[in-house]
Amino acid sequence: MAPTLSNEILLKAAKEFSTPLYVYDEERIHFQYAKLIQAFQKSDVSIFYACKALSNINVLRIFRDLGAGIDCVSLNEVQFALKAGVDPSKIIFTPNSVSFDDYTEAVSIGVNINIDNLEILQQFGTVYGNTYPVVVRINPHILAGGNIKISTGHIDSKFGISIDQVGQILDIKKQTGLAIKGLHLHTGSEIKEVDVFLNGLNLLLELSNQFEELTVIDLGGGFKIPYKPDEKGVDIEQLGEKLFERLDQFQHSNNRKFQIWFEPGKFLVSEAGYFLTKANIIKENPTRHFIGVDSGFNHLIRPMFYDAYHIIDNISNARGPLKTYNVVGNICETDTFAWDRELPEVHAGDILMFKNAGAYGFEMSSRFNSRTRPAEVIVAKGEMKLIRRRETLDDLLQGQIL
Ligand SMILES: *Cc1c(COP(=O)(O)O)cnc(C)c1O
Repeated sequence: MAPTLSNEILLKAAKEFSTPLYVYDEERIHFQYAKLIQAFQKSDVSIFYACKALSNINVLRIFRDLGAGIDCVSLNEVQFALKAGVDPSKIIFTPNSVSFDDYTEAVSIGVNINIDNLEILQQFGTVYGNTYPVVVRINPHILAGGNIKISTGHIDSKFGISIDQVGQILDIKKQTGLAIKGLHLHTGSEIKEVDVFLNGLNLLLELSNQFEELTVIDLGGGFKIPYKPDEKGVDIEQLGEKLFERLDQFQHSNNRKFQIWFEPGKFLVSEAGYFLTKANIIKENPTRHFIGVDSGFNHLIRPMFYDAYHIIDNISNARGPLKTYNVVGNICETDTFAWDRELPEVHAGDILMFKNAGAYGFEMSSRFNSRTRPAEVIVAKGEMKLIRRRETLDDLLQGQIL
């Protein structure tokens, strides 16, 4: 059974550290990672945690201790990973729309570099030739993922080099001597269908004939996890099985073997996270009952940003009679966490807990409305540890020239 944090410990955390508060369960992170390792054990698979989901150094250390690599989309994330003690050889730098300077810095650090446009590829080849093998991100023209805003592999997406432009990649390779050690794709987030990953694999296997020095196939992240009560996530075991079969078959017919890299974010941390808020006011309007909590989309933007659904529970009154509410935040704009949600009756002061808040929760938070960002706590072996203190007015003023 997947480990979860009890209402008791969550209430204790809210009491001790106040709200709004992000709480993470280390045991659940271990559990999710073990599930992947187990599912992919028959193939040569490496997992790189996509740390833009949740980048607190304490979380990155957990992944370092598990032996995972880290996928970074900015140089600052690379610095975080280094600070957490991750070896550069286990870091992938997968930026989009950054300048060539970022790539030169990444070279000086010695991380794996993933290039996603032809212009940089040309420049990189001209400067480094065959001295620094890179991974190239392909846009496979596959539409996948839970919402168009989190789809990254369709034909109109800004990510990757179109599969129709592989000829140009080969030209650059020939002309500059650039060494391409890997091909990558990441088609989106919340992908439920195993076949999307297999189609991606097949596509890159097909291309591999044209890249003789290729050793790595990177299939990105985006594993779907359940958000709604009756939802199912991607069937990781089935994916592991089918991946192995396909690679085995390819090895037999082509006499080539590849390392497979995955870069999951959400799958590893989403279900390990809980977001705790306090009900400030209950407003009974003629048509709607609102619960106004001590937070807003500045702290958890997913519902407003891409209509994400988070299970919410009233953990102060878990057995109370059900009533229907709109759960809203305190930001002075439309700020709705949930519409027409049945919750055990809520009174001012009750603690509302949001599930699935580990990924893209704190990480996408802001200081909009000049509110401070929440604290973060991690629970390991029953012990609570503060891993980011709550911000103060001074934090908001810091950096302003007064
Ligand atoms: C965001 C991202 C991921 C992780 O996506 P999840 O949906 O969180 O698994 C993986 N790879 C790249 C390149 C990304 O940008």
